[in-house]
Amino acid sequence: MSQLPSSVDVVVIGAGASGLMCAITAGYRGRSVLLLEHSNKAGRKILMSGGGRCNFTHMFSTPANFLSSNPHFCKSALSRYRPQDFVDMVDRHGIEYHEKTPGQLFCDVSSKEILQMLLTEADWAGVQLQLNTSIESIEPNSPGYQLETSSGPVSCQSLVIATGGLSIPNVGATGFAYDLAQRFGMQVTERRAALVPFTLQPDLLTPRKELAGVSQPARVSCAGVSFKEPILFTHRGLSGPSVLQISSYWTPGATVEVDLLPDLDLEGLLLQQRTDHPRWSLERSLSEHMSKRTAQILCELWGFAGDELGQLSNSRIESICQAFKHWRVKPSGTEGYRTAEVTIGGIVTDAVSQKTFEAKSAPGLYFIGECLDVTGHLGGHNFQWAWASGFCCGQAV
Ligand SMILES: Cc1cc2nc3c(=O)[nH]c(=O)nc-3n(C[C@H](O)[C@H](O)[C@H](O)COP(=O)(O)OP(=O)(O)OC[C@H]3O[C@@H](n4cnc5c(N)ncnc54)[C@H](O)[C@@H]3O)c2cc1C
Repeated sequence: MSQLPSSVDVVVIGAGASGLMCAITAGYRGRSVLLLEHSNKAGRKILMSGGGRCNFTHMFSTPANFLSSNPHFCKSALSRYRPQDFVDMVDRHGIEYHEKTPGQLFCDVSSKEILQMLLTEADWAGVQLQLNTSIESIEPNSPGYQLETSSGPVSCQSLVIATGGLSIPNVGATGFAYDLAQRFGMQVTERRAALVPFTLQPDLLTPRKELAGVSQPARVSCAGVSFKEPILFTHRGLSGPSVLQISSYWTPGATVEVDLLPDLDLEGLLLQQRTDHPRWSLERSLSEHMSKRTAQILCELWGFAGDELGQLSNSRIESICQAFKHWRVKPSGTEGYRTAEVTIGGIVTDAVSQKTFEAKSAPGLYFIGECLDVTGHLGGHNFQWAWASGFCCGQAV
């Protein structure tokens, strides 16, 4: 392990997405930068992201894709570092990628390429990366900060905290940023796991066990917000893009409404088919819009199995539509930080500058990335926030 310099211009704590970007940007400006990481590897969430293919940005990312107590805060950074800026870097490194759903960019081969690109850029920018280094103390040291670490002491003019949120503790997530912010008098909002699957009570789950693994187009709504993306039945409850998205808006005890046939006027269809195909079973009719097996299981579950279309009364059709298009489900909870992609909530944004990310109560101390109360939708927005906040801070330190 190399020795720490006794003094540098900038120390960045946390070698994840935002910390790497900040260190690179400051390094290219000629600042001496030390990037400290407590685990034995940089960018572990980058490696596990996007199912191993890193959904590294969303080309149509706008402030509307972010949740925050102050929805205006993210605008400045997002406008100064755009998705195309990151794509330009990816192109310069010859990394192949593709667009999955409109705007969502994924590596063709592996997330490793994005991490390698950032580590190469950090090297070119002269950043010193120190792994396996935990922070023992931080004291203001006018001007700047004095740190005691497990690799030795170091002082700096600017100290950037890029230690992320609480999700996936077993790859090194900690509440370090929140604790430090509070120590310097900054407020931290309530936090909870987001972009996370729902769990269901046994009475709801057991009859749906046979559906585990089934994915179905859906519209999922809660708290006045809807997402039309697939839903996935799991052994523990519900997942899939629409459920992960809505989990950011869900609060314990709330009910979620699921439309399992979002592109279908089910009532119109059944009224028409009652005349055209009176001998068809309901399952037969539904299986043109979902798998036969899913149609069978759900019809059995909701007591419609064996219904012949010709026999359906108008009120029966109404009940069927209610079940398939307005399924109201009350999750028992979420899978929590163990599997969540992000932490919603965090350091109150009013406490830092939207231009530089410097703490208003502590000159020379900066907070970037997921530790702030800015949380993106699924689809590459969270990385875009990490790159943008890291870049803007790196220009200021
Ligand atoms: C499974 C999974 C998949 C994801 N997929 C995507 C995706 O495809 N697209 C997308 O946009 N977002 C995705 N995300 C979210 C994205 O990874 C995060 O929003 C992003 O990494 C946040 O960047 P950050 O720099 O704030 O924090 P992180 O990238 O989490 O980096 C924080 C770093 O700080 C280190 N650290 C923590 N505490 C300390 C400490 N006390 N001392 C020193 N170091 C410390 C950590 O080890 C880590 O290296 C995914 C998240 C997960 C968990």
